[in-house]
Amino acid sequence: MHEARVDYRLVRDAVIREFRRGRIGAEDVRDAHPELMRAARNVGRPLGDDCPICGVERTVLVTYVFGAGLPAGGRCPGSAAELERLRRRSDPVLCYDVEVCRSCAWHHLLRKYPAGGQGARAGGAGRRERR
Ligand SMILES: [Zn+2]
Repeated sequence: MHEARVDYRLVRDAVIREFRRGRIGAEDVRDAHPELMRAARNVGRPLGDDCPICGVERTVLVTYVFGAGLPAGGRCPGSAAELERLRRRSDPVLCYDVEVCRSCAWHHLLRKYPAGGQGARAGGAGRRERR
């Protein structure tokens, strides 16, 4: 089955609301993994909005790509060109867009969406779900 695009913005907004109401502690929303923080510093693309948690700086977007032949933990493309190449490859991939704040380590999944595989192996079986 083909993976559907899923938007997590409502979940994200709910988490932010709960944080502002004091129902979720800062340590629970500002716990980006060091690996994710490094990716955010090195290859994060500006999202344009101030961080909803600390407001110190704008958050950035980091994309992880999962698919056959890629690391189990996903591949974090080091450039826009590499991301584009992965999205267009003949093997299907699943992309995860994650919002990260480089100041306070806030992070949340924004969306996941399938890419790649267009035309290649059309209708073929063996597309496995990942995560
Ligand atoms: Zn922040």
